[in-house]
Amino acid sequence: MMRKKLVAGNWKMNGSLAQNRALLASLCQQLPILSCEVAVFPPFPYLSQASELLHGSSIRLGAQTLSEYREGAYTGEVAAGMLREVGCSYVLVGHSERRSLFAESDQAIARKFLAALASGLNPILCFGETLEERQAGVTLDVIKRQVLAVLACLDGGSWPQSAILAYEPVWAIGTGLTATPLQAQEVHAYVRSLLNQGGEEAGVAEVRILYGGSVRAKNARELFCQPDIDGGLIGGASLNVDEFLEICRAAT
Ligand code: PEP
Repeated sequence: MMRKKLVAGNWKMNGSLAQNRALLASLCQQLPILSCEVAVFPPFPYLSQASELLHGSSIRLGAQTLSEYREGAYTGEVAAGMLREVGCSYVLVGHSERRSLFAESDQAIARKFLAALASGLNPILCFGETLEERQAGVTLDVIKRQVLAVLACLDGGSWPQSAILAYEPVWAIGTGLTATPLQAQEVHAYVRSLLNQGGEEAGVAEVRILYGGSVRAKNARELFCQPDIDGGLIGGASLNVDEFLEICRAAT
């Protein structure tokens, strides 16, 4: 079983035409041939620009969210097919900022996940507990609810190999606090066991589970060494070329 690590840079609502050009040019220039996969997630208006700038490079493109609908009168929404057309391979689904600031429910997230799959986009399902939930000792219950809400909607209850998960403890996102490698590993192993619920699902060993939450060059290696951590979802540090490149190296 060999899972290729993925380092995914979530730019959130940051960037400009000029900044993106500079960042992606440095990344393309300096990213050595790596054994891991690298992807960037710019805001919607910049996806076409990024797609052009990444043409011919091995860096892949993703979007930060999508609509559950295919097309029609949904002002302000962006459909999976549109993301495919501008060159996305990945899309984040259920990022904690979407859940908390934009009230996305487990059910809406499951519908978005299905919409992504139906269009041939690889969804990255984000999940994770808040600080209060961790302190109350309900971390694994919360994670089970978030993951099963999606798993239950899948054909035969089996997780597609093209879909990725990202454990992002809410208390670690953008705070400079990181889950310890053992805290993260515990959750990752638990989630892999959840995916296996229907018995020994052949493909589950191949499913990638990323860790996200204040990953930096200085802590990436010990996280990525854990047996069930298959790379990282990187927020703040993905906007700094040197830091992001160092994290990519840590995944190889
Ligand atoms: C994120 O937004 O997914 C994230 C992990 O952010 P940060 O790395 O800044 O904590």
